[in-house]
Amino acid sequence: AAKDLGRNRFHYFTPSMQRNAKYRMRLIQDLRLAITNQEFELYYQPIVCLAQTHAIKAEALIRWHHPKRGVVSPVEFISVAEETGLIVEIGDWVFQQAAHQCALWREQFGVDVQISINKSPVQFRDEGNSVEAWIALLKTLDLKRNDICIEITEGLLLDNNEAIFNKLAQYRAAGVQISLDDFGTGYSSLAYLKKFDIDYIKIDQSFTRNLNTNRDDFTLCEAIIVMAHALGMKVIAEGVETDSQRQILSDAGCDYAQGYFYSKPVPADTFETTCIKPVQEALGTRFAIESNITD
Ligand code: C2E
Ligand code: MG
Ligand code: MG
Ligand code: MG
Repeated sequence: AAKDLGRNRFHYFTPSMQRNAKYRMRLIQDLRLAITNQEFELYYQPIVCLAQTHAIKAEALIRWHHPKRGVVSPVEFISVAEETGLIVEIGDWVFQQAAHQCALWREQFGVDVQISINKSPVQFRDEGNSVEAWIALLKTLDLKRNDICIEITEGLLLDNNEAIFNKLAQYRAAGVQISLDDFGTGYSSLAYLKKFDIDYIKIDQSFTRNLNTNRDDFTLCEAIIVMAHALGMKVIAEGVETDSQRQILSDAGCDYAQGYFYSKPVPADTFETTCIKPVQEALGTRFAIESNITD
């Protein structure tokens, strides 16, 4: 089934579709309309702290409600959006939406939810002055301390491009954290880890999937955790689907976990009910008071 193929499912069902020029043209046209007609929505998936359950983080994952086809997966349209440059406009929308949601949750629940967004290398390359605009919005919304995290991939850092390092430094100076997504699946040079401060490494789900049966996967996860900690980074394990995976990662010292074991990505209102309200109740006023003091 597509689900069992995990992140590789892309390779199994889209190339034939994308080789179809007509299908592709149609998808591009529809994507343009999708921006104008506001057919996108962000879903949120909790990132859970393995040691103390009250640190709230979520990854924002885009969903497209196509008027005829229903929900279209980002696996199908992000690559086309990248190839056509539409990703810049879509990415700006994702950022603005996530930032407003973060500010709204703070206002409504008195809880700080750090929202991670995915930012494609194409955005870093083609976005013009977006970085300044993003940082300005964060100031307007008073999101200055680890409220937003940007997920990048290894490929972005491999170019050794000063302009990109400068952008990352600008974000960090504005209080935005940086995650390295899908760690271990890209090129294997680790040199960039000493060039630039990364806050989180996300272990790709291809390593966590068979943690309880495959000794090598366990060894790799353990080594990534030890290395990350020694370099001052925290570790998030992706694709955690079972309690035994959670236990193994927790014992290995992993900091955070994300996956279907906790929750699939869900709409904002579901995230409020299942993730924010329980935390708000468990912490009572203490959390609200603490966040007022630091404000
Ligand atoms: P990603 O950033 O690595 O996101 C994690 C993907 O794994 C998500 O797929 C999520 O739904 C899925 N996932 C989470 N937990 C589990 C689990 O326990 N088991 C399995 N099998 N899968 C799990 P999704 O939402 O389909 O997104 C796919 C990819 O599309 C993302 O991978 C990311 O690269 C890209 N993407 C999604 N939203 C955006 C966006 O707003 N901007 C950009 N540039 N890319 C995005
Ligand atoms: Mg991600
Ligand atoms: Mg990932
Ligand atoms: Mg990915």
